[in-house]
Amino acid sequence: MANIRELLAQARTALDDSPSAVLDAEVLLCHVLDCERSYLFTWPEKILRLELEADYQQLIAQRAQGVPVAYITGMREFWSLPLRVSSETLIPRPETELLIDTVLTRFDHTPLAVLDLGTGSGAIAIALAYARPCWRVTACDISAECIAIAQDNAEQHQLRNLEFLHSDWFENLGGRRFDLIVTNPPYIAEHDPHLSQGDVRFEPARALSSGADGLDAIRHLCAHAHRALHPGGWFFTEHGYDQKAPVGQCLQQHGFIDLLQLLDLAGQPRLSGGRRNDDQNTRNHDSGTGLS
Ligand code: GLN
Repeated sequence: MANIRELLAQARTALDDSPSAVLDAEVLLCHVLDCERSYLFTWPEKILRLELEADYQQLIAQRAQGVPVAYITGMREFWSLPLRVSSETLIPRPETELLIDTVLTRFDHTPLAVLDLGTGSGAIAIALAYARPCWRVTACDISAECIAIAQDNAEQHQLRNLEFLHSDWFENLGGRRFDLIVTNPPYIAEHDPHLSQGDVRFEPARALSSGADGLDAIRHLCAHAHRALHPGGWFFTEHGYDQKAPVGQCLQQHGFIDLLQLLDLAGQPRLSGGRRNDDQNTRNHDSGTGLS
């Protein structure tokens, strides 16, 4: 029988290898007790029932094996929205909030048709649908299990302006066109040593890596995005910190103009985008896309 303070101290020791041991120990105990973190510091002397203590030890053992906290709790917050995740979905990253921030800063409340390619847990689509109720957001993924999780997340947040499609990139879009396409595709190089370190070891390879230089998916999306965009429509993709130049070239090569390349909060190039260039766009764009 141990109290909260003692259990946290034991867990920190068990998680010694992890740089986030203190936080992980607390988050997992909150998960078992279904409480806020403040509860742990308010009631450090509280003794747990034996079953709960055993449950906690089991979660700490999983974490000690390297399983990401988000997969143990089945939850991760993105854009302040709690989302269900599983080992089928990528764990939403804080750097992807740059994409949300960029899009919301640049596009106002004018109704738009938006597509999120490879939605995973639905993080991007859900954050955009939540922040812009007048937008119609379509989210697709190659994994039916991801679609089910993303749908469930949309329901949890009571969003009605979202639809989900089981599709390998543009495959099942049936000729539909959008004003804005966004994506956080896989972009890590296949043999990058980071893939065998830390949390990413437990994430789906399909959502992380894409070809020898990591750019296969981004090249495919840049090459085909125009056929799913309305004239003057915008395309934004997240990418690796060292991929700014090739992604910029790829966008230009496929006829995108007004290129934007932005840094994440860590100061790393993380997002690139551009506008579909064609003869009609100068007429349609200014009145039609809600760009502010
Ligand atoms: N940014 C993630 C990482 O470096 C990768 C996400 C992705 O490939 N889309 O772990």
